Amino acid sequence: MKWNRQDGWHDTKICPYQDFHLNPASMVFHYGQAIFEGMKAYRGKDDQIFLFRPQDNFDRMNNSALRMCMPRFPVDKVLKSLKALLYLERQWIPSAAGASLYIRPTMIAVDPYLGVRPSETYYFYIILSPVGAYYAEGFNPTKIYVSDEYVRAVKGGVGNVKTGGNYAASLFTTQLAKKAGYTQVLWLDGCEHRYVEEVGTSNIFFLIEDELITPPLEGSILGGITRDSVLKLAAGWGIRTAERRITIDEVLAACADGRLQESFGTGTAAVISPVGELMYREKVYHVNDGKIGALSQRLFTELQAIQCGYGDDPFKWVVRVC
Ligand code: PMP
Repeated sequence: MKWNRQDGWHDTKICPYQDFHLNPASMVFHYGQAIFEGMKAYRGKDDQIFLFRPQDNFDRMNNSALRMCMPRFPVDKVLKSLKALLYLERQWIPSAAGASLYIRPTMIAVDPYLGVRPSETYYFYIILSPVGAYYAEGFNPTKIYVSDEYVRAVKGGVGNVKTGGNYAASLFTTQLAKKAGYTQVLWLDGCEHRYVEEVGTSNIFFLIEDELITPPLEGSILGGITRDSVLKLAAGWGIRTAERRITIDEVLAACADGRLQESFGTGTAAVISPVGELMYREKVYHVNDGKIGALSQRLFTELQAIQCGYGDDPFKWVVRVC
């Protein structure tokens, strides 16, 4: 669908996947006025199709729109259109364990204009792509590289917005990490380079002395929907949870003396991503002897079951499409 000041959102349609035409001066190319979301549709119980917390993805996208001076959109209407699209494309939703249909709603600024100001015309579109299981070779711990030289975001910036610029800023460091044999970068805060923020495209958790700790949402990290789901599930299981600032020194001290029981990332792509190793200033720290912790495993199993319509859904997160 398209937006302009005069007509608001209009021209909503479902069409075959294809190239589209953009003016080379379209503002999205110059000033990064672009936002997106990442969500999944699952084929689960009785061959039914489910979405996981889609309203929360679209609400987050509307918050991103506000911060990026872009128009907000009617969530009800977009969700209804997405369900219609998924119904039409349901044959592409895989049934293999862990596989899903990835959904990428995107909004871009399309005014052909070279000065710096918000665009006055926008496109909103949704791309679908089947994806295999994230852990094709089994649920495995990852190796994480802690960056204290480069930062992803600063307070007051756009780190809590799902906009392309954040990911562009992280490419170089991620490449360095990969060259050193690590999967992802653990980002520290952009001011003191001490406080843990998030990992690649995941939020981060530490289980220290039976308390599940994750950095707070203070504007520089993305408020992950999986993060929120983990906090709610864990609290419901009687686990102590805390959203608080935690320094890398505190994490590594707890790792060195055995108080750090587990660490894992959370995100739509991997659901739960156990951390087996941390590398900081040329020193390697093993987490839980490089093994998957019991809580990571339980959260992974439980969340996947909820997403596919199996078992209890105490928070009413799952939306049935058909
Ligand atoms: N942080 C960043 C930077 C991300 O890109 C993502 C993935 N959307 C997350 C955290 C996790 O968010 P979610 O659980 O909503 O996928």
